[in-house]
Amino acid sequence: MNKSIEQIRTEALEEIEKAGDTEQIKAVSVRYIGRKGIVTQYLRDIAALPASQRPEAGKKANQTKKAIEKAVEKALSKLALSAKDAADAIDVSLPGRVSPRGSLHPVTRITKRICHIFERMGFDIAEGPEVETDYYNFEALNIPKNHPARDMQDTFYISENIVLRTHTSPIQVRFMEASTPPIRIVAPGKVYRCDSDLTHTPMFHQVEGLLVDENVSFGDLKGLLTLFVQQMFDEETGLRFRPSFFPFTEPSAEVDIQCVMCRGEGCKVCSGTGWLEVMGCGMVHPAVFENVGYDTSTYSGFAFGMGVERIAMLKYGINDLRMFFESDIRFLRQL
Ligand SMILES: [Zn+2]
Repeated sequence: MNKSIEQIRTEALEEIEKAGDTEQIKAVSVRYIGRKGIVTQYLRDIAALPASQRPEAGKKANQTKKAIEKAVEKALSKLALSAKDAADAIDVSLPGRVSPRGSLHPVTRITKRICHIFERMGFDIAEGPEVETDYYNFEALNIPKNHPARDMQDTFYISENIVLRTHTSPIQVRFMEASTPPIRIVAPGKVYRCDSDLTHTPMFHQVEGLLVDENVSFGDLKGLLTLFVQQMFDEETGLRFRPSFFPFTEPSAEVDIQCVMCRGEGCKVCSGTGWLEVMGCGMVHPAVFENVGYDTSTYSGFAFGMGVERIAMLKYGINDLRMFFESDIRFLRQL
């Protein structure tokens, strides 16, 4: 017993204090209160003391042992706590979690693109109601009561005189009623027809255009649509006008573009013809002008219309129209 028990106690507590990790704390514990530890040995040596000194020495040694045990326990739990804190801590150097961002639906994107091309050519955007009166949807557009387009098969009737618009053309009538020429508008929007298969959905989107001014000719229409097709697809895309019939235009034409898949060679998409139908167009029928009170001896104009999904299908090479409306994120992400 070279050192006093007080000295041993002071040194032990100091060493525990200095110990930086679990290993070191345990080593101090073993050195002092382990089986062969300094305090343990001290307790054994007490037996050799004179009987009168033993109780006092034993008491002090046991207090020391307890103090060291307590200090070891405290140091170990403190270390465990700080390890837990470290695990819970925020690592500011980690890259942040980016929250998923939506993007425009392909149909919206194509609509915007179509409108943008015409806006750059001086057209304004016009809109109108999706629930229309029979007058604006049919009558004013020179579609008489007995016309096949009014068949119950094609049109959603809300009541006898109210329909879900079957085309965006009523917007043209409403716009003409409210303005005087010159007029240059494109009208995008949803339209509704009772039809559903690979290439038809009960709701789809159209963009229609209308230009009214003095001395407007079919040549102007051809020039404008040629420019549009070249900007929508590319400069090399050829187009042709095929005579057709619409009640609200005369003469009328269908516009075909050279197949975007095979460049006119003939493939499955174009049924081997090399051409794809993309638009209807024509010179505004005098009856339509009369309905909105325009003087047909002064004004002439043309109108055109296209299905947005049809253009999107050709742009993106999609063969099932319904995919646009199934909200399948895996499909939408590809576009
Ligand atoms: Zn083709």
